[in-house]
Amino acid sequence: MKIPKKFRTYCPFCKKHTEHTVERVKKGKASSLTMIARQKKRQTGIGNSGKFSKVPGGDKPTKKIFLKYKCNTCNKAHQRPCFRAKKFEFAE
Ligand SMILES: [Zn+2]
Repeated sequence: MKIPKKFRTYCPFCKKHTEHTVERVKKGKASSLTMIARQKKRQTGIGNSGKFSKVPGGDKPTKKIFLKYKCNTCNKAHQRPCFRAKKFEFAE
């Protein structure tokens, strides 16, 4: 998948369409206070880890892509729900 580095899209701060610069960022850290995190922590050591085991058949064929959209007018950045892609790059 290819997307341009700069394009016009909606800015939630300016409340209109403006030019944005896109940057790829790493996945944010999961909160350590969630129910699932506490469950996972409780389960230690011996045996099968059940629903916390790895995905059967190994790695998933697609990876999640996390992007940061920075508005060129107000210089504020926002994010959108991430998506999955096999291959990701910025078009020139
Ligand atoms: Zn803006």
